[in-house]
Amino acid sequence: MMKWRKYAKHHKKLILWIIIFLAILAISIFLFHRHADEINLTTKTTTPSSSSTTATTKPSQAVFDKNQYSLNVSSSLWVVVNKGRVLPSNYVPAGLRVFGSSGMNLGAEAANALQQLFNGATNAGLDLMLSSGYRSYNTQVGLYNSYVASYGQASADTFSAKAGHSEHQTGLAADLAPTSRQCELDVCFGNLPEGKWLAANAYKYGFIIRYPADKTQITGYQYEPWHVRYVGTNLSNEMHKTGITTLEEFFGLPAYTSYPASSYELQ
Ligand SMILES: [Zn+2]
Repeated sequence: MMKWRKYAKHHKKLILWIIIFLAILAISIFLFHRHADEINLTTKTTTPSSSSTTATTKPSQAVFDKNQYSLNVSSSLWVVVNKGRVLPSNYVPAGLRVFGSSGMNLGAEAANALQQLFNGATNAGLDLMLSSGYRSYNTQVGLYNSYVASYGQASADTFSAKAGHSEHQTGLAADLAPTSRQCELDVCFGNLPEGKWLAANAYKYGFIIRYPADKTQITGYQYEPWHVRYVGTNLSNEMHKTGITTLEEFFGLPAYTSYPASSYELQ
């Protein structure tokens, strides 16, 4: 003890310097670590921020899964039928049911959704009716042929589908009209309060206006404000949100304005 005191007394300055040195060392180690952490932190935030689109948009906008349903299976909720994509001639959807008092059939899920849509229209003071629902392959053969006979094929092709190419064969499509039948199957339906309401609200019930006015070069059909296609609210909401109005554009499928030499055959 005595020895240490003596030693300390003699080397007071030296000890002081050692303490100062250690203090500086400790402070610099502390600062270095903090700085290193900062660097880490910034690299951590900057590396993903260079791809910040994914980092910032991912949580808010959960990526929409475009593979939830097949586009190629006739019975699929998302089946895409157009001039280049044909349903089997013997395809009849399972579970068709008569819609209300119309005497016409629709797929069960589409029928339920359409009833909801009609209720929504009624609540808005408007009344809609089903003008055409499910149509069999053979019904479409007759319908198309009669249009071709009356208007010629070129004209008929702008508003009527060849058998197998009609969405009505899926049981998911419906032609709607006011109960007054004013502008039934006519473009003027789009200007009626019923047509405007339908255009603004169909998506809430899982439907899309399948042949929009500005997409005739995509769909291959004239504007049909009365023709709705049931796709489910998951997809109709997404299409509404993204502003993509056709199935062809939404799913990146080829557009057909006329019938190709050979169509893609749906399963
Ligand atoms: Zn139709």
